[in-house]
Amino acid sequence: MSQKARLERWLDKGLVRLGRRSLYWQVFMLIGLVCLLVLPLFGAVPQYHWQTPWNNGQLFSEWVLWAIWYPGTLLSVLLVGRLWCGILCPLGAMSEWFSHIGARFPIPSFIKHPMTTAMSFIWVTIWAQTLDVRDDLRAALLLFALIFALAVGCGLLFGSEHKQGRRVWCRHLCPIGSILGVFSRLGVVNLVRKQAKGQSPHLSEGYRDNGLCPTSIDLASKQTARHCIKCARCVNPESKGGLTVQIRQLGTEIIKIDRHAPCLSELWFIWLAPGLAVAGFVWAQTPLYVSFRQALGQFALSQHWYGWLQAGPSWLMNQNAALNQHYLWLDFFSISGFMLGFALLLAVPLLLCSWLASYAFHANQSRRSQRMAAFGYQFAPMAMLCILLGLGSTLFATLKQVVGNDVMFLELGLLVMALLFNGVSAWRWTAAQNVSLACRILLNGLLLIGCALLSAATLWSIFPTLLFH
Ligand code: SF4
Ligand code: SF4
Repeated sequence: MSQKARLERWLDKGLVRLGRRSLYWQVFMLIGLVCLLVLPLFGAVPQYHWQTPWNNGQLFSEWVLWAIWYPGTLLSVLLVGRLWCGILCPLGAMSEWFSHIGARFPIPSFIKHPMTTAMSFIWVTIWAQTLDVRDDLRAALLLFALIFALAVGCGLLFGSEHKQGRRVWCRHLCPIGSILGVFSRLGVVNLVRKQAKGQSPHLSEGYRDNGLCPTSIDLASKQTARHCIKCARCVNPESKGGLTVQIRQLGTEIIKIDRHAPCLSELWFIWLAPGLAVAGFVWAQTPLYVSFRQALGQFALSQHWYGWLQAGPSWLMNQNAALNQHYLWLDFFSISGFMLGFALLLAVPLLLCSWLASYAFHANQSRRSQRMAAFGYQFAPMAMLCILLGLGSTLFATLKQVVGNDVMFLELGLLVMALLFNGVSAWRWTAAQNVSLACRILLNGLLLIGCALLSAATLWSIFPTLLFH
């Protein structure tokens, strides 16, 4: 038995052990999350500059959530896939627990629509900014409580017919699951059918309600890491059937994307999410946002839309008397417009590059949408970095306080690493296409343009006040 096979077998056993104890982990995480979100609200409000995560409970909770948990779970998919979802996440677990007693309504087609998860991510990311969840623990509690209610509601509405639970929320609606799903395609750990090793893959991955898999993967045709939450239910090291751990090179699934159920809707996520994440971070720091808000305010006044200058509802935008922060409708429209505008500004050239590329090769993909998808996935590593630096900005802000401005070298180093990774995987993907040298040069040129744009967006998140000054 090779070393790789031994490691895979060891991981099989470890995953099964983890899966058996997942209930304890989930209860532990649920208690931890409730403590993190609720207990500090009884303490002092962070109002002064001398208050830090180390002497203020609310700041500590915000730090754990946005500096550790969020970037940590995102990065973890590169190593262990969606292990967070299957073993640790209390939200998904609650949704599944309630599915045991839930009604068995059929899932409406709009929930099953492939674009729903991407839309859910976009909507929640913007909503999190208008609520200012990173700087207001009460708002974070509100957001988490509503998401909890939706996850539990899904369990109650779309219950499971078998004793295995069902996770409609995790498969179709969770904004965090959508981002973890896309980037778990890059990860080194995957689960594959034991009997499928060496066989040619199915053309598409099947969907099976009420099977063994809580996220409705038809195990016989599984071919992507995207929806697999590593719950280990289909893994049995002693049996000849079922799924088994496969160790693969970073980015393999993207390089061979035509064999791993590419999905055009997922591509919208790769095109839109980086701009959204970067704008979500920089809007509070860049002078460009101030000018945009001013212009929008003047326009509203010129149209006599005075309602824009009134405070909006606290479930939609931040209203915190203790922090003396009251968002107006103008703030709501400015933040949403700024984020959506920048997301589109970045997405359109990426889409154009993918569209142009779809003319350049024919290989295994027959339809243009499939060729666009195959090309668009090649931006995934850079898209992940943009999201990591944008949405995980609290981590880098903390590091800046500890090591000073030198932290920008770490961010720049990550940018260079992601660029190299993206460049190598894209080169390997173009090399695998059966195209002429001229086409290969064209494909690499288009990939270079897309990566340059994503790098510029990343640089903006590292130096938000330098550009547009
Ligand atoms: S998909 Fe969302 S709710 Fe489900 S387990 Fe993952 S993070 Fe939790
Ligand atoms: S394929 Fe389904 S049952 Fe198997 S580990 Fe993944 S989520 Fe769990």
